[in-house]
Amino acid sequence: MSTQAETAPFRFFDLTVDRTRRLGPSLVRVTFTGEELKDFAAGGRDQSLSLFLPHPGQRAPVVPREAGDMYAVLGAWRALPHEERAVMRSYTLREQRAEDGEVDIDFAVHEDGGPACRWALATRAGDRVTVLGPAVADNTAVRCRPPEGTEWVLIWGDETALPAVAAILEWLPAGLPARVWLEVPHAGDRLELTTAADAEVTWLVRDEGSPSAVEAVSAAELPEGVPYAWIAGESGSVKALRRHLVNERGIDRRRVTFVGYWKRGLSEDGLRETPDTD
Ligand SMILES: Cc1cc2nc3c(=O)[nH]c(=O)nc-3n(C[C@H](O)[C@H](O)[C@H](O)COP(=O)(O)OP(=O)(O)OC[C@H]3O[C@@H](n4cnc5c(N)ncnc54)[C@H](O)[C@@H]3O)c2cc1C
Repeated sequence: MSTQAETAPFRFFDLTVDRTRRLGPSLVRVTFTGEELKDFAAGGRDQSLSLFLPHPGQRAPVVPREAGDMYAVLGAWRALPHEERAVMRSYTLREQRAEDGEVDIDFAVHEDGGPACRWALATRAGDRVTVLGPAVADNTAVRCRPPEGTEWVLIWGDETALPAVAAILEWLPAGLPARVWLEVPHAGDRLELTTAADAEVTWLVRDEGSPSAVEAVSAAELPEGVPYAWIAGESGSVKALRRHLVNERGIDRRRVTFVGYWKRGLSEDGLRETPDTD
Protein backbone atom coordinates (compact mmCIF):
# COMPACT_ATOMS: atom_id res chain seq x y z
CA MET A 1 0.00 0.00 0.00
CA SER A 2 1.31 3.43 -0.89
CA THR A 3 2.18 5.60 2.08
CA GLN A 4 2.18 8.77 0.00
CA ALA A 5 -0.86 10.97 -0.26
CA GLU A 6 -2.33 10.43 -3.72
CA THR A 7 -4.28 13.03 -5.62
CA ALA A 8 -6.80 11.85 -8.21
CA PRO A 9 -5.74 13.45 -11.51
CA PHE A 10 -9.23 14.75 -12.30
CA ARG A 11 -12.10 16.05 -10.20
CA PHE A 12 -15.22 18.19 -10.45
CA PHE A 13 -15.13 21.96 -9.97
CA ASP A 14 -18.14 24.28 -9.69
CA LEU A 15 -17.37 27.55 -11.47
CA THR A 16 -19.10 30.88 -12.02
CA VAL A 17 -18.90 33.11 -15.09
CA ASP A 18 -17.14 36.36 -14.25
CA ARG A 19 -17.07 38.01 -17.68
CA THR A 20 -17.05 37.40 -21.44
CA ARG A 21 -15.16 39.02 -24.28
CA ARG A 22 -15.40 38.73 -28.08
CA LEU A 23 -11.97 37.87 -29.49
CA GLY A 24 -13.24 37.98 -33.09
CA PRO A 25 -16.34 37.16 -35.13
CA SER A 26 -16.01 33.43 -34.32
CA LEU A 27 -14.49 33.30 -30.85
CA VAL A 28 -15.87 34.23 -27.41
CA ARG A 29 -13.68 34.13 -24.30
CA VAL A 30 -15.45 33.23 -21.06
CA THR A 31 -13.59 33.88 -17.81
CA PHE A 32 -14.62 31.80 -14.80
CA THR A 33 -13.95 32.13 -11.09
CA GLY A 34 -14.78 29.89 -8.13
CA GLU A 35 -13.63 28.93 -4.67
CA GLU A 36 -12.76 25.41 -5.90
CA LEU A 37 -10.27 26.75 -8.47
CA LYS A 38 -7.58 26.78 -5.77
CA ASP A 39 -7.29 23.01 -6.37
CA PHE A 40 -7.30 23.29 -10.18
CA ALA A 41 -3.93 22.48 -11.79
CA ALA A 42 -3.83 22.98 -15.55
CA GLY A 43 -0.95 21.39 -17.44
CA GLY A 44 -0.91 24.05 -20.18
CA ARG A 45 -0.62 23.23 -23.87
CA ASP A 46 -3.81 21.53 -25.10
CA GLN A 47 -5.14 20.79 -21.62
CA SER A 48 -8.71 19.66 -22.19
CA LEU A 49 -11.61 19.32 -19.80
CA SER A 50 -15.25 18.30 -19.77
CA LEU A 51 -17.65 21.17 -19.37
CA PHE A 52 -21.11 20.52 -17.92
CA LEU A 53 -23.63 23.18 -18.91
CA PRO A 54 -27.20 23.91 -17.80
CA HIS A 55 -30.09 23.60 -20.23
CA PRO A 56 -31.93 26.85 -20.94
CA GLY A 57 -34.13 27.61 -17.92
CA GLN A 58 -31.97 25.70 -15.42
CA ARG A 59 -30.15 27.83 -12.80
CA ALA A 60 -27.18 25.44 -12.65
CA PRO A 61 -26.04 22.33 -14.51
CA VAL A 62 -27.45 19.08 -13.12
CA VAL A 63 -24.39 17.08 -12.05
CA PRO A 64 -25.03 14.86 -8.99
CA ARG A 65 -21.77 15.63 -7.19
CA GLU A 66 -23.20 14.24 -3.95
CA ALA A 67 -22.92 10.72 -5.51
CA GLY A 68 -19.29 10.42 -4.36
CA ASP A 69 -16.06 10.13 -6.31
CA MET A 70 -15.62 11.10 -9.97
CA TYR A 71 -16.77 7.71 -11.29
CA ALA A 72 -19.85 7.60 -9.07
CA VAL A 73 -20.82 11.13 -10.13
CA LEU A 74 -20.40 10.29 -13.82
CA GLY A 75 -22.49 7.12 -13.36
CA ALA A 76 -25.26 9.04 -11.59
CA TRP A 77 -25.14 11.80 -14.26
CA ARG A 78 -25.45 9.22 -17.08
CA ALA A 79 -28.47 7.62 -15.36
CA LEU A 80 -30.44 10.88 -15.49
CA PRO A 81 -32.76 11.73 -18.43
CA HIS A 82 -30.98 13.60 -21.26
CA GLU A 83 -33.27 16.61 -20.96
CA GLU A 84 -32.47 16.99 -17.26
CA ARG A 85 -28.80 16.13 -16.92
CA ALA A 86 -26.20 18.76 -17.77
CA VAL A 87 -24.97 18.97 -21.36
CA MET A 88 -21.38 17.70 -21.47
CA ARG A 89 -18.89 19.05 -24.05
CA SER A 90 -15.09 18.96 -24.42
CA TYR A 91 -13.16 22.23 -24.28
CA THR A 92 -9.59 23.44 -23.87
CA LEU A 93 -8.37 25.30 -20.85
CA ARG A 94 -6.95 28.36 -22.60
CA GLU A 95 -5.31 29.86 -19.52
CA GLN A 96 -5.26 29.50 -15.75
CA ARG A 97 -4.26 32.57 -13.69
CA ALA A 98 -3.85 30.96 -10.28
CA GLU A 99 -2.90 34.27 -8.63
CA ASP A 100 -6.23 35.82 -9.71
CA GLY A 101 -8.27 32.64 -9.18
CA GLU A 102 -9.42 32.70 -12.81
CA VAL A 103 -9.52 30.42 -15.85
CA ASP A 104 -10.42 31.20 -19.48
CA ILE A 105 -12.15 29.01 -22.05
CA ASP A 106 -12.45 30.24 -25.65
CA PHE A 107 -15.58 29.09 -27.50
CA ALA A 108 -15.82 28.92 -31.28
CA VAL A 109 -19.26 30.25 -32.15
CA HIS A 110 -21.02 29.69 -35.44
CA GLU A 111 -24.44 29.61 -37.10
CA ASP A 112 -26.55 26.57 -36.25
CA GLY A 113 -24.40 25.92 -33.17
CA GLY A 114 -25.29 23.31 -30.61
CA PRO A 115 -26.02 23.80 -26.89
CA ALA A 116 -22.46 24.81 -25.92
CA CYS A 117 -22.19 27.34 -28.72
CA ARG A 118 -25.59 28.82 -27.81
CA TRP A 119 -24.65 28.88 -24.12
CA ALA A 120 -21.41 30.78 -24.87
CA LEU A 121 -23.29 33.39 -26.90
CA ALA A 122 -25.89 33.95 -24.18
CA THR A 123 -23.94 33.60 -20.95
CA ARG A 124 -23.69 36.42 -18.41
CA ALA A 125 -21.74 37.08 -15.21
CA GLY A 126 -23.04 34.88 -12.40
CA ASP A 127 -23.99 31.90 -14.59
CA ARG A 128 -22.90 28.55 -13.17
CA VAL A 129 -21.16 25.58 -14.81
CA THR A 130 -19.39 22.46 -13.61
CA VAL A 131 -16.09 21.26 -14.99
CA LEU A 132 -14.41 17.88 -14.81
CA GLY A 133 -10.84 19.09 -14.92
CA PRO A 134 -7.27 18.52 -13.78
CA ALA A 135 -6.20 18.43 -10.14
CA VAL A 136 -2.59 17.64 -11.11
CA ALA A 137 -0.70 19.43 -13.87
CA ASP A 138 0.82 16.24 -15.31
CA ASN A 139 -2.39 14.59 -16.53
CA THR A 140 -3.51 12.56 -19.53
CA ALA A 141 -5.76 15.33 -20.89
CA VAL A 142 -2.59 17.10 -22.07
CA ARG A 143 -1.92 15.40 -25.41
CA CYS A 144 0.74 17.64 -26.94
CA ARG A 145 3.92 15.78 -25.97
CA PRO A 146 6.77 16.13 -28.47
CA PRO A 147 8.94 13.01 -28.09
CA GLU A 148 12.61 13.15 -27.17
CA GLY A 149 14.72 14.19 -30.16
CA THR A 150 12.11 16.48 -31.77
CA GLU A 151 13.90 19.03 -33.97
CA TRP A 152 10.89 20.94 -35.31
CA VAL A 153 7.15 21.02 -34.87
CA LEU A 154 4.25 21.09 -37.36
CA ILE A 155 0.88 22.34 -36.13
CA TRP A 156 -2.49 22.58 -37.87
CA GLY A 157 -5.73 23.59 -36.14
CA ASP A 158 -9.09 25.14 -36.97
CA GLU A 159 -10.98 27.68 -34.85
CA THR A 160 -11.91 25.07 -32.22
CA ALA A 161 -8.21 24.22 -31.81
CA LEU A 162 -7.03 27.84 -31.84
CA PRO A 163 -7.12 28.07 -28.01
CA ALA A 164 -4.98 24.92 -27.78
CA VAL A 165 -2.55 26.11 -30.46
CA ALA A 166 -2.17 29.50 -28.75
CA ALA A 167 -1.32 27.76 -25.47
CA ILE A 168 1.03 25.28 -27.17
CA LEU A 169 2.90 28.15 -28.84
CA GLU A 170 3.31 29.85 -25.45
CA TRP A 171 4.79 26.62 -24.11
CA LEU A 172 7.21 25.67 -26.94
CA PRO A 173 10.89 26.15 -26.12
CA ALA A 174 12.75 29.21 -27.37
CA GLY A 175 14.15 28.84 -30.87
CA LEU A 176 12.43 25.53 -31.75
CA PRO A 177 11.38 25.77 -35.42
CA ALA A 178 7.59 25.52 -35.80
CA ARG A 179 5.43 25.60 -38.94
CA VAL A 180 1.88 26.50 -37.96
CA TRP A 181 -1.33 26.59 -40.03
CA LEU A 182 -4.47 28.02 -38.45
CA GLU A 183 -7.78 27.78 -40.30
CA VAL A 184 -10.45 30.30 -39.27
CA PRO A 185 -13.77 31.39 -40.78
CA HIS A 186 -13.05 35.14 -41.13
CA ALA A 187 -10.06 37.48 -41.39
CA GLY A 188 -11.10 39.10 -38.08
CA ASP A 189 -10.56 35.78 -36.29
CA ARG A 190 -6.77 36.07 -36.55
CA LEU A 191 -5.31 36.56 -33.07
CA GLU A 192 -2.03 37.91 -31.77
CA LEU A 193 -0.02 34.84 -30.76
CA THR A 194 2.87 34.80 -28.31
CA THR A 195 5.77 32.38 -28.61
CA ALA A 196 9.49 32.11 -28.00
CA ALA A 197 9.68 29.39 -30.67
CA ASP A 198 10.92 30.19 -34.16
CA ALA A 199 7.37 29.94 -35.49
CA GLU A 200 6.09 30.69 -38.97
CA VAL A 201 2.31 31.09 -38.74
CA THR A 202 0.06 30.91 -41.80
CA TRP A 203 -3.59 31.92 -41.40
CA LEU A 204 -6.03 30.10 -43.67
CA VAL A 205 -9.17 32.23 -43.87
CA ARG A 206 -12.11 30.22 -45.16
CA ASP A 207 -14.23 33.12 -46.39
CA GLU A 208 -11.24 34.26 -48.46
CA GLY A 209 -11.23 30.85 -50.17
CA SER A 210 -8.25 29.42 -48.31
CA PRO A 211 -6.79 26.03 -49.27
CA SER A 212 -7.71 22.94 -47.27
CA ALA A 213 -5.36 21.58 -44.60
CA VAL A 214 -3.81 19.04 -46.99
CA GLU A 215 -3.50 21.55 -49.84
CA ALA A 216 -1.79 24.09 -47.60
CA VAL A 217 0.63 21.69 -45.96
CA SER A 218 1.45 19.69 -49.10
CA ALA A 219 2.42 22.90 -50.92
CA ALA A 220 4.89 23.84 -48.18
CA GLU A 221 8.59 23.18 -48.01
CA LEU A 222 9.11 21.69 -44.57
CA PRO A 223 12.22 22.05 -42.40
CA GLU A 224 14.88 19.31 -42.29
CA GLY A 225 15.22 17.19 -39.15
CA VAL A 226 13.04 15.09 -36.87
CA PRO A 227 9.46 16.42 -36.73
CA TYR A 228 6.60 16.23 -34.27
CA ALA A 229 3.12 17.04 -35.59
CA TRP A 230 0.07 18.15 -33.59
CA ILE A 231 -3.17 18.45 -35.55
CA ALA A 232 -6.69 19.02 -34.25
CA GLY A 233 -10.01 20.35 -35.48
CA GLU A 234 -12.73 19.04 -37.79
CA SER A 235 -12.37 15.30 -37.90
CA GLY A 236 -12.37 14.91 -41.72
CA SER A 237 -9.64 17.53 -42.17
CA VAL A 238 -7.59 16.01 -39.34
CA LYS A 239 -7.75 12.51 -40.82
CA ALA A 240 -6.84 13.69 -44.32
CA LEU A 241 -3.87 15.67 -43.02
CA ARG A 242 -2.65 12.83 -40.84
CA ARG A 243 -2.75 10.49 -43.86
CA HIS A 244 -0.75 13.04 -45.87
CA LEU A 245 1.87 13.44 -43.14
CA VAL A 246 2.32 9.70 -42.56
CA ASN A 247 1.88 8.31 -46.09
CA GLU A 248 3.27 11.08 -48.28
CA ARG A 249 5.64 12.97 -46.02
CA GLY A 250 6.86 9.79 -44.31
CA ILE A 251 6.50 11.13 -40.76
CA ASP A 252 6.63 8.34 -38.16
CA ARG A 253 3.00 7.89 -37.01
CA ARG A 254 4.17 7.86 -33.37
CA ARG A 255 5.30 11.43 -33.93
CA VAL A 256 1.83 12.62 -34.96
CA THR A 257 -0.75 13.60 -32.33
CA PHE A 258 -4.15 14.02 -33.98
CA VAL A 259 -7.51 14.73 -32.39
CA GLY A 260 -10.88 15.18 -34.07
CA TYR A 261 -12.40 18.04 -32.05
CA TRP A 262 -15.75 17.89 -33.87
CA LYS A 263 -17.36 16.17 -36.81
CA ARG A 264 -19.47 17.87 -39.43
CA GLY A 265 -23.15 16.94 -39.03
CA LEU A 266 -22.69 15.14 -35.69
CA SER A 267 -23.10 16.58 -32.19
CA GLU A 268 -20.55 15.63 -29.54
CA ASP A 269 -23.15 13.26 -28.01
CA GLY A 270 -23.49 11.63 -31.44
CA LEU A 271 -19.71 11.39 -31.77
CA ARG A 272 -19.45 9.65 -28.37
CA GLU A 273 -22.18 7.18 -29.35
CA THR A 274 -20.63 6.53 -32.81
CA PRO A 275 -16.89 6.67 -32.19
CA ASP A 276 -14.75 7.73 -35.12
CA THR A 277 -12.75 4.59 -35.82
CA ASP A 278 -11.52 4.97 -39.40
C1 LIG B 1 -10.25 17.67 -26.65
C2 LIG B 1 -11.17 18.72 -27.25
C3 LIG B 1 -10.95 20.08 -27.03
C4 LIG B 1 -11.77 21.06 -27.60
N1 LIG B 1 -11.53 22.38 -27.35
C5 LIG B 1 -12.36 23.33 -27.85
C6 LIG B 1 -12.17 24.73 -27.53
O1 LIG B 1 -11.30 25.11 -26.75
N2 LIG B 1 -13.01 25.62 -28.11
C7 LIG B 1 -14.03 25.23 -28.96
O2 LIG B 1 -14.77 26.08 -29.44
N3 LIG B 1 -14.24 23.93 -29.23
C8 LIG B 1 -13.45 22.97 -28.70
N4 LIG B 1 -13.67 21.65 -28.98
C9 LIG B 1 -14.76 21.32 -29.93
C10 LIG B 1 -16.15 21.33 -29.28
O3 LIG B 1 -16.22 20.37 -28.24
C11 LIG B 1 -17.18 20.99 -30.39
O4 LIG B 1 -17.19 21.98 -31.38
C12 LIG B 1 -18.59 20.77 -29.83
O5 LIG B 1 -19.30 20.03 -30.81
C13 LIG B 1 -19.34 22.06 -29.54
O6 LIG B 1 -20.56 21.69 -28.92
P1 LIG B 1 -21.97 22.31 -29.33
O7 LIG B 1 -22.91 21.92 -28.23
O8 LIG B 1 -21.83 23.75 -29.66
O9 LIG B 1 -22.36 21.54 -30.68
P2 LIG B 1 -22.86 20.04 -30.83
O10 LIG B 1 -24.21 19.86 -30.22
O11 LIG B 1 -21.79 19.11 -30.38
O12 LIG B 1 -23.02 19.95 -32.41
C14 LIG B 1 -24.11 20.61 -33.10
C15 LIG B 1 -23.77 20.74 -34.58
O13 LIG B 1 -22.73 21.72 -34.72
C16 LIG B 1 -21.68 21.18 -35.50
N5 LIG B 1 -20.43 21.81 -35.01
C17 LIG B 1 -19.76 21.57 -33.84
N6 LIG B 1 -18.69 22.39 -33.77
C18 LIG B 1 -18.69 23.14 -34.90
C19 LIG B 1 -17.85 24.17 -35.41
N7 LIG B 1 -16.80 24.62 -34.74
N8 LIG B 1 -18.17 24.74 -36.61
C20 LIG B 1 -19.25 24.33 -37.31
N9 LIG B 1 -20.09 23.36 -36.87
C21 LIG B 1 -19.82 22.77 -35.69
C22 LIG B 1 -21.74 19.67 -35.29
O14 LIG B 1 -21.17 19.00 -36.38
C23 LIG B 1 -23.23 19.45 -35.20
O15 LIG B 1 -23.79 19.34 -36.49
C24 LIG B 1 -12.86 20.66 -28.42
C25 LIG B 1 -13.10 19.29 -28.63
C26 LIG B 1 -12.27 18.33 -28.06
C27 LIG B 1 -12.56 16.86 -28.31
